Formats: sequence, C-alpha cells, structure tokens
Amino acid sequence: MAAIQCIGVLTSGGDAPGMNAAIRAVTRSAIYHGLNVKGIYRGYKGLISGEIKEFQTQSVSNIIQQGGTILRTARCQEFMTEEGRKIAYENMVKEGIDALVVLGGDGTFTGAKIFANEFNIPVVGVPCTIDNDIASTDYTLGFDTAINTVLEMVDRLRDTSQSHDRCSVVEVMGRRAGYIALNAGIACGATSILIPEVEYDFQRDVIDRMKRTQMTGKKHFIIVVAEGIGGVDEMAKRIEAETGVETRATVLGHVQRGGHPTVRDRVTASLMGYKAVELLK
Ligand code: ATP
Repeated sequence: MAAIQCIGVLTSGGDAPGMNAAIRAVTRSAIYHGLNVKGIYRGYKGLISGEIKEFQTQSVSNIIQQGGTILRTARCQEFMTEEGRKIAYENMVKEGIDALVVLGGDGTFTGAKIFANEFNIPVVGVPCTIDNDIASTDYTLGFDTAINTVLEMVDRLRDTSQSHDRCSVVEVMGRRAGYIALNAGIACGATSILIPEVEYDFQRDVIDRMKRTQMTGKKHFIIVVAEGIGGVDEMAKRIEAETGVETRATVLGHVQRGGHPTVRDRVTASLMGYKAVELLK
C-alpha cells in the first residue's frame, strides 16, 4: 500500500465531550507529520453526500474546550448497505482521502470495520461515548465529563432532598452499561445504586436498607438508577408507600451529554488523537 498522504476525520453516533479535542489532535498531529487532513461532516452521512472540507491548523482552533462536535454527527442507515458504502468509498477516492480516523461508539466502530475490510482502507477508531461501554478499551472519551455533570446535578438534588427530608430517585444515562451510575453513585454517596450488571432485590437493597438507615436518624436519601434498569417513577411510588418518605423521581437525560470536557477528557482525547495518526503512519 502506498504511503498515506491525506487523512479524513469524522464523528459519528452520539456526541461526547472531548470529540472536539480529539478532532484537534488528529488535525494538528497529521499536519505536523506533513499530511493533509479533511474534515468529513455528519459522520458517514457526509462521506456519502460529499460534505467534506480541507482542514488547516486554524480550522480546529478554539475548540479544545467545547462540548459536542464541530464536525456534527449523524446516524446513517445508508452506510449499513453495500451500495451506500460504495458511494462513500468513491467519494473518498475523489477527495484523495486514503485513511480515516473515526470518532464514535460501538456502531461507528462496527461500520468502520466493515468498511475497512471491504475496501482495504486503513481506519483507526477513537472511542467516544459517555457510556464507557466499548470493548477492549479502559476508557471512552466523554465519560469523565458525564460523571462530573451527573455528580453536580445529584449534589443539587441532595440539597433540596435534605431540606425537605425527601428521597431522590435519579436515573442516569449509560444505555445497557452501569458505569455512569456506579461511579457517580459512589461519588455522591448514594444509599443504593442499581445497575444492569448486578442483580438486585428491590425490597432488600433499597427499601430495607432505607428503613435501616432511617433508624439511625437519616432523613434524606439518594438512589441512583442506571438507564438500563429504568422505571424510576414506579420505584419512587413504591419507596414512598413503603417507607413513608416523600420521594421524587428525576431523569437527568441529555444534559449529561453536553458541557465543557474535563481535564481527563481533553488530555485523553489529545493522546488518542495523536496516537491515531501515529498508527496510521
Ligand atoms: P453511541 O454509542 O453514542 O450511540 P454509536 O457509534 O454506537 O454511538 P450508532 O448509531 O450505533 O452510534 O452508529 C453510528 C453509525 O455507524 C450508524 O448510523 C451507521 O451509519 C454506522 N453503523 C452502525 N452499525 C453498522 C453496521 N453494522 N454496518 C455499517 N454501518 C454501521
């Protein structure tokens, strides 16, 4: 295979804080190595529609601190078909792009793997998802920012729960993975944490535990529930009925996906972006 001269970079699937820092690192590292870089907009969709722009050093200035992705992101059904991927490949050839760095989650990586094998293109993935649920990596970009956001939100809920002697049942994101719930739950001192990876008995692990700690004088409670378990409204009703503690359910939702990336996400994004280019080289 001839030496790589031009790298395309795209973000796909759900956005995650740190994607911009990774785009910046890929761009600047590639330019440092004398390579051209092209930004592909809206993930695989942009590869198919040809929404592609040449990047210079300044194209990625002032983005390291921004959440979201300047390249935008999308889910693309067409890329799941052979015809769609063929158009994507033809556009790559037309644009002179001979390698790709894809930033995204599980689905993005699956698509990348199929595409790379089909057309024999070098592709490197940078794991980006707040859920931290990609195999073969200890860390995915966005996770640290997300757990810190959850922590701040739950601390706020704790203030009001404590003032009113209430229980807060909080659902956090993570899809089928419990990493966000587990880490944020420990950090905020939750009474119980429910995650899909661990079997639980609601009576024993939530109700009875609350009742036991009530006897020590505790009057406010935080229960953290992973998205993969859900059902927080019903849980709140049951807790209130069985413990007599006024209970509110809160679903934190998409606020967890936004915000300025933390130091850990910016540094890891910079290292991963740099490494992606090194690997392609
Ligand atoms: P998140 O974990 O944040 O949802 P993700 O990368 O897993 O991110 P998906 O929507 O699952 O998000 O995947 C992103 C895109 O990757 C899809 O819209 C599709 O274009 C491509 N993709 C996913 N699975 C496949 C597949 N089996 N074949 C080809 N392309 C795929």
